[in-house]
Amino acid sequence: MSTLTAAASATTDSYPETLDHEAVLVRRGSRSGLYTFVAVHSTVRGPSLGGCRMWSYDDSRHALRDALRLSRAMTYKSAVADLPLGGGKGVIMTGPGESLSSARRTAALLDFGDTVQLLGGRYITAEDVGTSSRDMRVIAQRTRHVAGLPRGMGGSGDPSPFTALGVETAIRACCERVFSSSSLRGRTVAVVGLGHVGSRTAKRCAQAGASLVLSDIDPHKRRLAEELGAAWCEPDQALELDVDVVAPCALGGVLNHATVPRLRCQVVAGAANNQLASESVADLLAQRRILWAPDFVANAGGLISIAEEQHGYHPAAARRRVRQISDTLHQIFDEAEASGTTPLTAALEIARKRLAAASAA
Ligand code: NAD
Repeated sequence: MSTLTAAASATTDSYPETLDHEAVLVRRGSRSGLYTFVAVHSTVRGPSLGGCRMWSYDDSRHALRDALRLSRAMTYKSAVADLPLGGGKGVIMTGPGESLSSARRTAALLDFGDTVQLLGGRYITAEDVGTSSRDMRVIAQRTRHVAGLPRGMGGSGDPSPFTALGVETAIRACCERVFSSSSLRGRTVAVVGLGHVGSRTAKRCAQAGASLVLSDIDPHKRRLAEELGAAWCEPDQALELDVDVVAPCALGGVLNHATVPRLRCQVVAGAANNQLASESVADLLAQRRILWAPDFVANAGGLISIAEEQHGYHPAAARRRVRQISDTLHQIFDEAEASGTTPLTAALEIARKRLAAASAA
């Protein structure tokens, strides 16, 4: 998964992190000597699920803040997707610039597995920035509370294809709303960030007949543009393109008070986490009549696929479930319209209501 969100979050040390979590476990690994953190934000709707991030932090406050913040986001993401899951997150903290030998890395993963096991199933881990489905196999030596194992081991494997399917679904739902048709034939779509999710999203949109503009800071990604017959543009111009849809699939914070006034598209729907620099940007988008699919709804495909493991994993069932992102978005847009709020407010309201109902039950 992306190293970008981690980079962004590891440096956002300017705001305090609220403590409204059920449990936070911090342990120093006996094998690796590295600190592992697990934050369980909520198990009101089911066991908390969230990835294990292995990342280098300047100090432990940053690592803890990441775990607290990201676990809360998982609670909302699962609730809006109506999954029987809560929100949690794991962090394995390495020091600034520290690179681990393969033996110490394995030791850290085993240590993290012990931390997960201590929570007795209240937290289920999965891959995230800095970890892969192969790493989940190592963690699984110490605990069975692991999702996202390789397909050969009965897990759901790489979530990115499902995230991309979800993003395409979100783009279609937004187009239906704005252009009265979910067809992408003839639509112009700019995909910004061509990594695991962005490249697959671009391929899916190309296959659906969209006319594409692709962008990435990595010039090697131009090859994908050539392969798909797409136009190429530099990232600093990508948000200003005269296209129907912009799909941010790289960094968080791309939508802010400087970039939104320059947007020329009518729809923004993409995979990047934390696209809004602040919640007030949602109001700005609405004022400009640009339809924004809340990121934690549009990019839930990977999580939805992982959640399917609870029923014995079937990719076709996972795909069906991911496509329901369309219904979720239409509900959000309906409720935002009816109450005169933004899609962000409407989505958070749905999550809060579901959490309150589960608490009351
Ligand atoms: P990735 O690291 O595979 O790809 C990111 C791509 O963005 C890279 O090609 C990189 O070169 C490019 N990039 C970096 N900075 C850029 C910039 N300023 N402008 C244009 N391109 C830039 O990451 P990914 O797994 O594809 O995830 C992309 C985003 O989606 C991240 O924000 C991630 O948190 C989010 N997300 C991913 C998943 C998933 O299943 N992988 C699930 C949910 C959310």
